[in-house]
Amino acid sequence: MEHVAKPAVIVADMLVDFVSGALANPASQATIAPTGRLLEGARERGWLVCYVNDAHLPGDSEERIWGAHAMAGSAGAQVIPELRPQPGDVEFRKRYYSGFHETGLDMYLRQHGVDCVILTGQHAHICVQHTAGSAFIAGYRIVLAEDCISAFTPDDQAAGIAYMEQMYGAVTLNVDRVLVDGFVADAAR
Ligand code: ZN
Repeated sequence: MEHVAKPAVIVADMLVDFVSGALANPASQATIAPTGRLLEGARERGWLVCYVNDAHLPGDSEERIWGAHAMAGSAGAQVIPELRPQPGDVEFRKRYYSGFHETGLDMYLRQHGVDCVILTGQHAHICVQHTAGSAFIAGYRIVLAEDCISAFTPDDQAAGIAYMEQMYGAVTLNVDRVLVDGFVADAAR
């Protein structure tokens, strides 16, 4: 029997602090509507929707680089209202760039037979890239939903995506292509 990819959508750090708060990224605004469309389509198709959300503790390594942001339990660490998780979605709290690092995401995806991750969120060259690196090491196929991913600058965006394509074999698609029935299965072969 032919192998059909079972995808999950991963939403990285679409949190208040990353969109309009402590580390506001204006470029992320344009990704909200496409991401909403992707999540809706994913839920209709029965794909898992997983959020990987910064939830920092005082003294975390990243604090030296970025200052305090998305502190666990704070308003800034909440997913923005436009993309609020729906019943059946799962939120994972992370303290480092990668959505896989000590979050339980990998075990959850394996329990559900997922073999392909569709990455969204921010930033292309930081948390999305690190999450893609972990996904690659763990053996997942990687699709980048390009219009759902942002970075601080166009150069950062292009550099992150180029790196993930070259190093992790990621396939870059826009939301319309991701949602073409069967396309993810083909892209993730
Ligand atoms: Zn962080």
